[in-house]
Parts: sequence; C-alpha cells; structure tokens
Amino acid sequence: MPRAFITGITGQDGYHLAEFLHGKGYDVYGMVKGQNNPRATKLQEELPFLELVPGDLADLPSLVAALQLAQPDEVYNLGAISFVALSFSQAELTANITGLGVLRMLEAIRMVGGTQDNPIRFYQASSSEMFGKVRQTPQTELTPFHPRSPYGCAKVFGHDIVVNYRESYGLHASSGILFNHEGPRRGIEFVTRKVTNAAARIKLGLQHELVMGTLDAKRDWGYAGDYVKGMWMMLQQDEPDDYVLATGETHSVEELVQLSFASVGIDDWQRYVRQDPKFYRPAEVDLLIGDASKATEKLGWKPEVDFPTLIDMMVQNDLEIEAAKAP
Ligand code: NAP
Repeated sequence: MPRAFITGITGQDGYHLAEFLHGKGYDVYGMVKGQNNPRATKLQEELPFLELVPGDLADLPSLVAALQLAQPDEVYNLGAISFVALSFSQAELTANITGLGVLRMLEAIRMVGGTQDNPIRFYQASSSEMFGKVRQTPQTELTPFHPRSPYGCAKVFGHDIVVNYRESYGLHASSGILFNHEGPRRGIEFVTRKVTNAAARIKLGLQHELVMGTLDAKRDWGYAGDYVKGMWMMLQQDEPDDYVLATGETHSVEELVQLSFASVGIDDWQRYVRQDPKFYRPAEVDLLIGDASKATEKLGWKPEVDFPTLIDMMVQNDLEIEAAKAP
C-alpha cells in the first residue's frame, strides 16, 4: 500500500485529504504538534484509520524522526499559521512556521529521502494570497507575486524554496497555488465559516448581530473536498510542477453574507450586520480570481461544487451543530 504523510492533519484540508487518500488505499500518517493536542484526539475518533505521529514544523529533528517512522511515498505539507489576521499580530511566528517550516520539511526529505528508485514526492500548500495586490487578472502560475500580509510573504518564501530545491536537488516537489476553499470543517475564525455560523445562530435566536470587516473584498471560493483531489493529482505526475487550483469565479463578502442568510430564509440580512473597522486588514487583498486551465489540461482537474451549493452546505451543517447545542 502507498504511504502518505500529512502535516496540518488537524486542519480543514488535512481531514479531507486523509479521507480521500484512505479511499484510494493509502496508509495515512498525520503529524500532530503539541503534548496534548485536543484537535488530534477528536480527529482520531473521527478517522480511526489515521496513524498520528508527533512533530512540529519549528523543529527539524522532529520532522526527520516523523518521516523515519512513517516511511512515506508522498508528503503533503499543509501545516501552517494560516489565518491572515493572526499573521499580522504574530508575524515572526508566521514566518517561522509557514515560511521556514517548508525549508525544514524539504531538508528532512533530503535526509530521509525514500529509496533511490522511489524517492519521496512532496506537495506544498501555496496560496493565492501570494498574489495579493494583483498584477494581472485572472491569476495564473506565471502571475508575479505581491503579497499583502506576513502570511502571504511567508507563503512566497515557501513557494520559492520548493522551486529552488526542485531545481537544485532534483526533488519531486510540487506546489499547488490554491485559491480559497471552504467547507463545513473550515475553522470558525475564517470569514466564510464566521458568516455561515452566524446566519445559523441568528436563525435559531442564539445570536443577534454579525460584526464584519469589509464587505467589498472579492474571493474565488471553492470546496475543499474538490481541492484535495487536485493535490493528489499533482503528485501522480511524472514531473513535479506548480498548478493553480481555482473556480475562475469571484464573489464578494457581501454575496457570501446575503447567500448565507437566504439559506436560513432571512432576506433582510442588512438588519443583522454591522461593520467595524477593527476587522479591517492593515493591507487588503481586493480581488482574487484564478485561472486553473493548466490543472484542467494537465491533471484533468476541475471543481465540482459551485458557490451557492457550498454556502448552503456550510449553513445547513452549522444549523445542525448549533441546534444540537441549543437548550
Ligand atoms: P488550517 O485549517 O488552518 O490548518 C492549519 C494546520 O497547521 C493545523 O493542523 C495546525 O495544527 C497546523 N500547524 C500550525 N502550526 C504548526 C506547527 N508549528 N507544526 C505543525 N503543524 C502546525 O488550514 P487549512 O485551511 O487546512 O489549509 C491547509 C494549508 O493550505 C495551509 O498551509 C494553508 O495556509 C494553505 N491554504 C489554504 C487555503 C484555504 O482556503 N483553506 C488556501 C490556500 C492555501 P494545530 O491544529 O495543532 O494548530
């Protein structure tokens, strides 16, 4: 059986990817940080097939030990400080984990290596946030980067070091430049889940107001379940390369809010929404929209779930969770 090793296993994409690879017949190893990680305990209950391995992207020896234990054919580096707002307040931590963590993972792969006939293949979770103040629309693999947050800057370093190690040491290392992808497992701190959860809670009478930053920002939002398939497809290619995964559609935060409330039968969403500048980013990314034609042509990848279906899926999930909590 092929073996996969995933960092960031307790995150949204880690869950979807682990399920997907298990379905493909992989032995799946997930790296967990911390001495008593509550998310890991919950995940192990949900995905009992998972082998959890300790390790931290800040600690190279732990990465080497984790790879020696898992002996993977494929490594998916999803671990990161991934919340843009936090990256502004903890920029050094973000640079260390989201940026230097990639370098450490690549070094660990060089040390452990896999066999000569079967070298370890590596996937790096690059991000559309690298495009930031966009120089071209839609954005492709060749669009220059202009990150607008410490998160985006750290991801640019991670992306560039993958290209450099591929070219310098011949590693089978690929990066997926993924545009936003969401789903019921999205962290509550992210804007999509914050909105779908608030719409559900307001409908149930558990919350009365939703406080937002800008409603004008536009994103290319897809479904996480579609995107993890693309990650796997990249590592099945003979040659490593970089690919944009995106829907090619852009929607505003305002549309996200309107659709979420409509999904619980509330049309006059403006009554419940207040804007507060405290949620504005110091530098905003205004318009992200990706061109995934390379992934479609070379990998045969395309997104399946459209934006209204995605938002409805998230709202219905939040309704169920919140209704179960209600007295
Ligand atoms: P997520 O839900 O925020 O998960 C982040 C993961 O990183 C968590 O499992 C977290 O573990 C782990 N992590 C944090 N610090 C770590 C450290 N020091 N060592 C090891 N692991 C650490 O992120 P996601 O949405 O699944 O995204 C997966 C990856 O894709 C991330 O790299 C993200 O930046 C990137 N990406 C995401 C999107 C998107 O729209 N979702 C788009 C483009 C790129 P704990 O639970 O223990 O904190």
